[in-house]
Amino acid sequence: MPHPSTWLKVTPAGLYCEPGGFFIDPSRVVDRAVISHGHSDHARPGHAHVLATRETLAIMTARMGEGRAGVTQQALRYGEALTINGVQLWLRPAGHVLGSAQICMDWQGSRAVVSGDYKRHADPTAARFEVEPCDLFVTEATFALPVFRHPSAEGELAKLLRSVALFPERTHVVGCYSLGKCQRLIAMLRQAGWDRPIHLHGAHVAMCAVYEAMGVRLGDLRAATVAKKDALKGAIVLAPPMAVADRWARRLNEPVPAVASGWMRVRQRAKQGGVELPLVISDHADWDELLDTCCAVQAPEVWVTHGREDALIHALSLRGVKGRALHLVGLGEEEEDAAPAEDPVA
Ligand SMILES: [Zn+2]
Repeated sequence: MPHPSTWLKVTPAGLYCEPGGFFIDPSRVVDRAVISHGHSDHARPGHAHVLATRETLAIMTARMGEGRAGVTQQALRYGEALTINGVQLWLRPAGHVLGSAQICMDWQGSRAVVSGDYKRHADPTAARFEVEPCDLFVTEATFALPVFRHPSAEGELAKLLRSVALFPERTHVVGCYSLGKCQRLIAMLRQAGWDRPIHLHGAHVAMCAVYEAMGVRLGDLRAATVAKKDALKGAIVLAPPMAVADRWARRLNEPVPAVASGWMRVRQRAKQGGVELPLVISDHADWDELLDTCCAVQAPEVWVTHGREDALIHALSLRGVKGRALHLVGLGEEEEDAAPAEDPVA
């Protein structure tokens, strides 16, 4: 059985399956790309041929424009297998955002799984992560420090609802990224019984429409910009994190600035951003999830694409797993992956 490193290569453009002739989440324009999910540090415009889930293709097309998300597109369902030049290829849910997939490959009995970004916790807007045993597991490490242990997302959301009940005159403005976190928050609010309208910053409207078109029901959504100030008393407004502390939010009625992110685990980070109500809700695996997952797939070797790889590789070595840091360029620059400018744990 060939070692996965003999056929899955690390190149300047990213991971390349040599016998299959395709790149995974390439950072440069390539001929054949397999894309794990729609976040812009994984899905870039301009590839000739793009293979991904139907949802990821729809997200990419909405963000990049028709024709920019692959000259030709090929959709693959979770669990559906394809053979490309002798390489078996299939996708498993990654639980990160709608359509997010782990890319599983088998070449001559040697199996590698590239997980993209992932989380293990339940998310009403993303199919739940599935463990695929393999010989080589490729993981992210965004929150790979023992300090990062995400509490239950439901408990964090309950804090938001308590605050809304406590301050009915004020407008709660929750900073969240437009792809994934925004729709997850909306779906969780609906599950928690919030059936009133949810107001959106303009930046969040288009992606919510894509989710709805893909069958994720988000309920009554309204534009926050056209609503009268008084109409937003007691309302929940979702906006990009950058908008929460700036002029845009100040024109709301006594806004309560909140942000939903794994980084809110770091108190100092929340304070710096002027966040009154930090909500630790992450679409990335925390320390325990990373370790549990790397062990669950039973791979003797784990490659770490980006993030805080040192602690993870050390912890894996204590469990007899060989780790390797790939330092892939361009990953972790978008969405929640983006580490704060100042090291939060320093
Ligand atoms: Zn992502």
